[in-house]
Amino acid sequence: MKYPKLRELKEAIISLVTPAYTSGFPKEPHVPFEKFRGKPVVDNDNCVGCETCANVCPPYAITFTDDREKGIRTIKRDYGKCIFCGLCEEHCITQKGVKLSDKLYDIAAFDRQNNVEYQYKELLICKNCGAIITTKEHLFYMHRKLGPRAFSSILNLNMLNQKLKLAEGQDVDVEIRDKLKRKDMFNILCPNCLRQVLVKYL
Ligand code: SF4
Ligand code: SF4
Repeated sequence: MKYPKLRELKEAIISLVTPAYTSGFPKEPHVPFEKFRGKPVVDNDNCVGCETCANVCPPYAITFTDDREKGIRTIKRDYGKCIFCGLCEEHCITQKGVKLSDKLYDIAAFDRQNNVEYQYKELLICKNCGAIITTKEHLFYMHRKLGPRAFSSILNLNMLNQKLKLAEGQDVDVEIRDKLKRKDMFNILCPNCLRQVLVKYL
């Protein structure tokens, strides 16, 4: 028979008389440690749907799908894939769109769909070529950040007109029928189409 080494015997005696390092979860509530990184929590009012967090998420837990017909961007956050790295919080352009909770740790579920969340944002689409410019909320956010400097862009000026509702109730939607005209510099255009108008007519 082999006898345990003295060091192992000492460790066994110490562990017998010291309290357990682990908690009795789920029978007892677990108290997360300081700076614990738990479930990312989205603040939809401060998330502008810019796509930055999806581009930095290592396991692709955040995905974006654009529906051009409906003009809607769907943001899907699958926390079953999340590794709690905190990159989405660190790179969020508004700094408030998503934050890792220091309390939400229990997200285990039998149905994986319970860990999936969706957000929906209205898209801004070029009236000429149909390219997706960004979301409306994203552009309004840049407006607020840039202040008066934002008005150097005609697109921003158009967006402001829509927000101020200067022609509320009127049909101000201008269709582009046969090629871009000078007047279309005041239309909702992507940077490429706007450049074509400006180069041709200014
Ligand atoms: S914490 Fe990391 S893995 Fe989880 S959603 Fe954010 S970026 Fe993705
Ligand atoms: S980076 Fe921030 S604002 Fe942009 S989509 Fe992600 S959470 Fe929303």
